[in-house]
Amino acid sequence: MSNPSRSAHTLYQKQWSAIRSHLQEELGDAAFRSWLKPLKLRRIENGEALVIAPSRFLRDWVSARYANRIAELWCEMNPDISAVTVEVGTISGVVPETQTTESAHDQDVTTILPAKDGSPRGANLRLRLAEEENDGLSSPLNPRFSFTDFVVGKPNEFAHAAARRVAEADKVPFNPLYLYGGVGLGKTHLMHAIARHIRERDPGRRVLYLSAEKFMYHFVRAVRYKDTMAFKEQFRSADVLMIDDVQFICGKDSTQEEFFHTFNVLIDHNRQVVISGDRSPSDLDAMEERLRSRLGWGLVADIHATTYELRLGILLAKIETIGIVDVPHEVLEFLARRITSNIRELEMALNRVTAQATLVGREIDLEMAQEVLRDVLRASERRITIEEIQRRVAEHYNIRLAEMSSERRARAVARPRQVAMFLSKQLTSRSLPEIGRKFGGRDHTTVMHAVRKIEELRQSDAAIAEDVELLKRTLER
Ligand code: ADP
Ligand code: MG
Repeated sequence: MSNPSRSAHTLYQKQWSAIRSHLQEELGDAAFRSWLKPLKLRRIENGEALVIAPSRFLRDWVSARYANRIAELWCEMNPDISAVTVEVGTISGVVPETQTTESAHDQDVTTILPAKDGSPRGANLRLRLAEEENDGLSSPLNPRFSFTDFVVGKPNEFAHAAARRVAEADKVPFNPLYLYGGVGLGKTHLMHAIARHIRERDPGRRVLYLSAEKFMYHFVRAVRYKDTMAFKEQFRSADVLMIDDVQFICGKDSTQEEFFHTFNVLIDHNRQVVISGDRSPSDLDAMEERLRSRLGWGLVADIHATTYELRLGILLAKIETIGIVDVPHEVLEFLARRITSNIRELEMALNRVTAQATLVGREIDLEMAQEVLRDVLRASERRITIEEIQRRVAEHYNIRLAEMSSERRARAVARPRQVAMFLSKQLTSRSLPEIGRKFGGRDHTTVMHAVRKIEELRQSDAAIAEDVELLKRTLER
């Protein structure tokens, strides 16, 4: 403890425990146990209280929901304390949460300052980011978007490997790196991870990360204030330039033009350029042809739609970082199966379920998850019909649609039929007997057998696994 005296320390600890009791009363046992109990007061220094949380998730959660209240209570009790800081660490010392190059320096710190006028109400929240380049060009990096927190699966392994390569290489491995994929699939996450990694490895390298929209904003402003020289200078002196969501400047001719020049200058000087977009370079319709083709000169890596395995993997990773809330595996599987649109939606669904659990102190189970997510599920449920499944499956295996309800048992038709039954069970809310009826009036046990069979084959037979995956993807789109 760096406090002047032992007694001061004891006093602060007393105040802290009073605040905790207060919060426990205010929020109820469940929320308190989950979110606030794990917090520890580490020290008070220069009027600032340093509170530590065991995980980043908890720090973020506490900052977003309870930080203001903590600051208020503290201010009421002891006006000398003018700020509260939440940091990730352990009581013995602040430690990095992960063993990689990530460390618990400033980006892991959230500082809560009471409002300037001294009134505790409306105490504001400030996020200090070490890597924030305060030349106002580079956007702040989300501390959560690191390589360590990125779950790798089939759909993103190539993009991930390419991103790591760029982040770790001493020489520019390919230029530009173009990452693309649908919304919410992790493009921005990977971009931030690259930027952070390079800055940490080599703080001397000037990494500029910003969205194409921001790029345009700076450009337009530079033009308006007749300051384009400075603008060019700033961008062209970057060692690494990263532009997120490049599709934004499609059709914005003068911005595109400027971007093209910046891009060329940097590439000619062997500076790393990383671009992301929501589609492949060749599909950027309203993009000038020469720029479009240059975007594809380096390495183009796409992130595919998520698979069930990846979604489940991400949920498991998130649960581990939360670490406190008990979410049954069955619920995770349910979410992974039903929230298929993208990872952002998946995260939101999980957050809603855990929030509900802590706020009303209800245990998480399947029924509760279904209830909390009713509207989300309804919206995401594009009704897939059994007929549609049968049609797609028949097309896929090149058999007649009539075989779906025929009596024939030859493998060439029986297997596709089983696949269709399996998909009907997975993708619709029909019961086994209902499904059986649609397949030529088969018994529900036949359907059950088919479902089990395909489940088994997916583990042992790569071709079947691939068929199922492909069919699911086309059906769910
Ligand atoms: P995009 O930029 O492609 O629209 P984001 O990078 O913003 O998507 O990702 C959306 C959310 O999903 C973010 O919270 C991000 O952390 C999370 N996410 C995406 N991919 C992964 C992954 N592979 N592992 C863990 N979280 C991920
Ligand atoms: Mg993005």
